Amino acid sequence: MKKKVSRLKVPHNKHTAGCASVPVAPPPEVVLPMSMHSGAPAEPVVQVGDYVRVGQLIGKEGGEISSPVYATISGTVSAIEPVKLNTGRTVTAIRIKGDGKMEKDPNIQVPEVHDLDSFLAAVQKSGVVGLGGAAFPVWKKLDAVRTNPVHTVLINGAECEPYITSDHRLMLEHADQIVKGVEYLRTYLKAEEFIIGIENNKPDAIAHLEETFKDDPSVKVMAMESVYPQGARQILLYNATGKVVQPGQRLASLGVIVINVTSLAKMAQYLTDGMPLVDRCVTVDGSAVAKPGNYVAPVGTSVGYMIEQAGGFSEPAGKVLLGGPMMGRTTTTLSEPIVKATGAILAFNQKDSAQMEPTACIHCGRCVENCPIGLNPTAFARDLEIEDEAEKVAALDKHNIKLCMECGCCSYVCPAHRPLVQNNREGLALSKKAARAKKEGGK
Ligand code: SF4
Ligand code: SF4
Repeated sequence: MKKKVSRLKVPHNKHTAGCASVPVAPPPEVVLPMSMHSGAPAEPVVQVGDYVRVGQLIGKEGGEISSPVYATISGTVSAIEPVKLNTGRTVTAIRIKGDGKMEKDPNIQVPEVHDLDSFLAAVQKSGVVGLGGAAFPVWKKLDAVRTNPVHTVLINGAECEPYITSDHRLMLEHADQIVKGVEYLRTYLKAEEFIIGIENNKPDAIAHLEETFKDDPSVKVMAMESVYPQGARQILLYNATGKVVQPGQRLASLGVIVINVTSLAKMAQYLTDGMPLVDRCVTVDGSAVAKPGNYVAPVGTSVGYMIEQAGGFSEPAGKVLLGGPMMGRTTTTLSEPIVKATGAILAFNQKDSAQMEPTACIHCGRCVENCPIGLNPTAFARDLEIEDEAEKVAALDKHNIKLCMECGCCSYVCPAHRPLVQNNREGLALSKKAARAKKEGGK
């Protein structure tokens, strides 16, 4: 019998599951970071003062792994400037002052796709990245088929983070795009098997997709146990197929590609109507939000505007998060823009935001026991105390910091409220920085 590697039960709090997605009114302004994806930032191709329309290219791919950025509202470019995001990174962003017209770029056309090369080129132009949070460019992920034939596509509809229901709504409201996405991957990747993994706390989405694909034996809708982090790709892979990806191994080498369900749908949308990724559904919820719901908004819309669209604050907010409570990051400014991979904005009242003071580690071992991939977060915390940078990175790497997926299970279970996931993020950043420096030095 297969071992269930994911076992943490967290409250689902999917209050907005029944809230159909509604478009927000055009925002007065958007701020579009050139780095909303893994890899090299996009490079601006417009100038201050230019008039731009929805779907117009404003940032072209900046490297081997990168993704283009498109205008998400019509209006005038008012600034190209550095902005500090809640990840702590400062990136170049294009600010567009909207004219409220949402005029579409007249040059938008359906891409011509007739073989693998033209398909991958079109997916690259779509600007679609991993919309479940990873933000890895989808074209680059699919490009792996050139060296590793893909047999199985695992479509990730788990949406295991508490509160977030935007993927859930997409599965209910846009199953037609999922059908098209499957067809594209079947045709151009030659994939033979499709598994749509959905946590069993979304029975309506499971039933709807089972009905949608009832005449297609190559598509299996799999009800997955509602345990966190079921949606992490290596966990979903194991629980859905029994396959294990080894440290350093590319998932594609197993003949499998994992793609988020909204990414698949957005890719299909571009291939069907030529409109690149310019908007997305965002769950706005939390105890300080007046009208929680699912709101479709242009990428780059501010958090403050999104909360206004959701009826504003019902009471003073103590904490605002982009993303879910397990993996999301707080923002201290309501002018923070939503980016391509923002699935949720959560605003909590003062009481729910109260932070427990960390106390000394009591060596209970719960963090290790509950890490879905068997890491030791206390070791990372110790490693971070090493003074010598090189020794510190070597120790972090020895303890496999690079495998940490920042799922937050360790922090969640820690009775001493240690900031474990924050430590892990710091360790990961150091390890990645050292790896980049080594690579560049070796060129
Ligand atoms: S955040 Fe990292 S160390 Fe902590 S439980 Fe998740 S994978 Fe394990
Ligand atoms: S869960 Fe917290 S208290 Fe327990 S060993 Fe881990 S860090 Fe220490």
